[in-house]
Amino acid sequence: MSTIAFLGLGNMGGPMAAKLVAAGHTVHGFDVVSAALERAGTTGVIVAADAVSAVADAEMVITMFPSGAHVLDAYREGLLAAAQHNTLFIDCSTIDVADAITARELAVAAGHRGMDAPVSGGVMGAEAGTLTFMVGAQAEDFESARPILDVMGGRVVHCGESGAGQAAKICNNMILGVSMIAVAEAFVLGEKLGLSNQALFDVASAASGQCWALTTNCPVPGPVPNSPANRDYQPGFAGALMAKDLGLALNALERTGTAAELGPLAAQIYRRFADEGGAGRDFSGIITVIRDNSEKVKG
Ligand code: NAD
Repeated sequence: MSTIAFLGLGNMGGPMAAKLVAAGHTVHGFDVVSAALERAGTTGVIVAADAVSAVADAEMVITMFPSGAHVLDAYREGLLAAAQHNTLFIDCSTIDVADAITARELAVAAGHRGMDAPVSGGVMGAEAGTLTFMVGAQAEDFESARPILDVMGGRVVHCGESGAGQAAKICNNMILGVSMIAVAEAFVLGEKLGLSNQALFDVASAASGQCWALTTNCPVPGPVPNSPANRDYQPGFAGALMAKDLGLALNALERTGTAAELGPLAAQIYRRFADEGGAGRDFSGIITVIRDNSEKVKG
């Protein structure tokens, strides 16, 4: 059993840390929000007075923060200095590929090991221990982390060297963002052509239009009974998170000079969706914007 520091005990980090405790690991946790810290305490996490004291005895340090700036600041402002030599730093936050590479470089320069291991699967996946981990790491660091990631995840994929986990995450979510917009536009067009949603679903779900956005997270109520559309677009995967992830994809598209057109457009569409009331709604709620805009065009 390992001694693990877990920093960032929010919607995702809280249940992930609880899974580690339930598996018998000793988890020292810290969050800057006292309510998150108290909640973690009720699941058996040992509540630390601050981040630095959480990492002092740890073999591994897991971070689950909102952004790359949070990760880099925390690393620079005490975490790396407070950890024992050769501690394995595992960042599970979704952050920019370039920030993930910098985070590992900082860890290595301070005498530690580092890796990126962002996740998909959301809060339900974190609670169930069925997250997918996308890992960017040296092979031997991946092997060291794997038993711990297996506790929190149902699928752990070694994507390559430092930054590769974040790269896989944003590429996947760019597919998801673009495909959801395509599915939503098709349903609105079908409605305008007098096609029932069920008829379009019955055809496309078994034809070349088939994709996760259609068959699992269907943006209209009815065809997939537990998709967020059936509960007025309560997430699920919130618009704010899709806007964030597509923003990270956009950074990477620009930095690499990738000649993408739909990715940047999807980033813009979801940024507007999040800013104009969709931040807390499931990202499939984009269909309501397309429908409303279609009425305006008609009017
Ligand atoms: P959250 O805001 O609920 O949790 C982040 C926590 O980090 C907060 O409790 C915050 O107080 C804490 N924090 C920030 N700076 C800190 C510091 N220096 N020291 C200690 N604690 C600090 O966010 P979340 O939904 O748990 O998401 C966390 C990460 O996981 C994000 O990068 C997000 O993009 C990613 N993610 C989220 C989901 C999801 O469905 N929520 C799914 C996949 C990936």
